[in-house]
Amino acid sequence: MQLSELITTYSQAMLKLYGEKIFRIGVSTGIMCPHRAAGGCLFCNPETFRGAYQSENLSIEKQLEKGIEILKQNSKAKSFIAYFQDETSSAGQLNYLQDIFSRAINYPGIRGLTISTRPDYVKEELCELLGSFNKPVSIEIGMQSIHDSSLQYIERGHNHQNTIEAIELCRKWGINTGVHLIMGIPGEKLPDMIDTIRWVSDNKGIQEIKLHNLVIYKGTRLGDLWEKGEAKQMPIEEYIEILSELIPWVREDIVISRLFTSNILHNDLAVDSMPGNKTKWMNQLRLELIRKGYRQGKKYLREIIIDDFGRI
Ligand code: SF4
Repeated sequence: MQLSELITTYSQAMLKLYGEKIFRIGVSTGIMCPHRAAGGCLFCNPETFRGAYQSENLSIEKQLEKGIEILKQNSKAKSFIAYFQDETSSAGQLNYLQDIFSRAINYPGIRGLTISTRPDYVKEELCELLGSFNKPVSIEIGMQSIHDSSLQYIERGHNHQNTIEAIELCRKWGINTGVHLIMGIPGEKLPDMIDTIRWVSDNKGIQEIKLHNLVIYKGTRLGDLWEKGEAKQMPIEEYIEILSELIPWVREDIVISRLFTSNILHNDLAVDSMPGNKTKWMNQLRLELIRKGYRQGKKYLREIIIDDFGRI
């Protein structure tokens, strides 16, 4: 059994929505994350989330041209989503964002937009703008956890209430919404992580999740804590075990578009090397799910049936 038979994947969802394979091209608005300018999240290292062809010095058209050129070298890609993925992509003046998003969505071959941002940068005017485009637009919100103590530990600078309000606004404007979640924040145990996943599953405004392991990078304040012995890098095996326990709690129709922090490989910024590679980790996860008889939604569905009928 393939992993794609056990979870709802991004490529399955894109095929259903667009009727063809869609590739995401990472692009940048060129605006620095305001929270980073103010000190930033404990774990943040901007070198780890920027594509090679993304640059604040290039026009949006140049970034897309380069991204498409690279993708076409390795595949038969012909349809794309412009993915504003680095920093906080909704920070900036509304007229600037309107200009840059409009130019991206109208670039040849672009079928839609994805905007990645923080919950405290999701405002009514932004949602109105995103809702006005005549192609699919989705938003990704850095939620991370429902636990305010965890958000404080990683110094996110927002709380869970900000996330609730941001998701509600997106729902009001009919914008497809995904959330980024960090699993393994120090202080959180498995039941705390399950609480976050169950909250997400209960929220019908959420259609997609990206799961991340908390990777400690050099040059971050979390990296400094690690050097002093005050933070520990979770081994990849432990994270895979946690993932296998979380996936059954994810509502069946939610798209799981990431399981591991991107860019762990191919850089020497992580304080600890993680044995293996993403293909091997996915396979380990697949085997673990099969061994436990788990699949996405299995436990969540069971809970709903118990709630509705008082029995299974
Ligand atoms: S919100 Fe994102 S870009 Fe900004 S400091 Fe946090 S991790 Fe870095």
